[in-house]
Amino acid sequence: MSSYVKTVLITGASRGLGRACAIKFASKNYNIVVNYNNSYDEAVNLKKELENLYHVEVLIIKADISIESEVSKMVELAISKLGHIDCLVNNAGIAIDTTFEDKTVANFRRIIDVNLIGTFLVSKYVSKYMLNCKKGKIINISSTNGIDTYYPYSLDYDASKAGVISLTHNLALEFAPYINVNCVAPGWINTDMNKNLDKDYIDEENSKILLSRFANPEEIANVVFFLASDEASYINDSIIKVDGGHKC
Ligand code: NAP
Repeated sequence: MSSYVKTVLITGASRGLGRACAIKFASKNYNIVVNYNNSYDEAVNLKKELENLYHVEVLIIKADISIESEVSKMVELAISKLGHIDCLVNNAGIAIDTTFEDKTVANFRRIIDVNLIGTFLVSKYVSKYMLNCKKGKIINISSTNGIDTYYPYSLDYDASKAGVISLTHNLALEFAPYINVNCVAPGWINTDMNKNLDKDYIDEENSKILLSRFANPEEIANVVFFLASDEASYINDSIIKVDGGHKC
């Protein structure tokens, strides 16, 4: 008799934190659905790497999470190919940092569409399946920018991440007692999202962090994996800050 292998769907798994989560879950013998939008080559390379290293099944699916028809097809395909979804990591996100004067409605809407509506849409379609099974885990990725660390040049992003926290509480209520819905709120992480920061700015930010450095994506992925694990069975409706101790 074959033993049950869990499946995780990770949005925005082609790069950065999503990629680190895919590696962590694969190393713990999960089958992985790698969602990506633009980074096809990175998704294909990740699939090869995970299959070679961990001998798990990896399905890569292109979907813009802000588009409902793409999300519904992605979830349908994932379930038809891998049989089930045990865990959803709502990781995909974008930031478009500018001065206040340069903020536009179009960019603000795009950030809300991806970070907040995208998280809602993927949760909506995956939860239908999880509720039928009466079990599941959803982990949303917010940011300390959504709690108590504010940067006016990312006010649109900060608002979207505050929205993800509110969404977490509402989904936990809606899906109780079957799905644990939790949220990780990272501080600064070493990913492409921060690749254009200059050294002086990074030094200034590091001086506000008790650990004096940005996180590596793996350090956040470890917390995401813990929330998905059986060890975290009684953690629900929680917002976990992982920011190295940040003093504003
Ligand atoms: P990143 O390196 O820029 O990667 C972003 C990922 O999101 C990519 O895989 C990208 O896929 C995907 N993505 C973007 N738009 C998408 C869409 N419409 N549909 C599907 N996928 C989409 O960013 P990151 O730093 O890893 O960020 C991951 C999460 O952590 C985000 O939610 C971010 O807000 C949050 N976070 C980051 C930091 C930080 O300091 N980096 C801090 C706190 C929270 P493609 O390349 O394939 O398009």
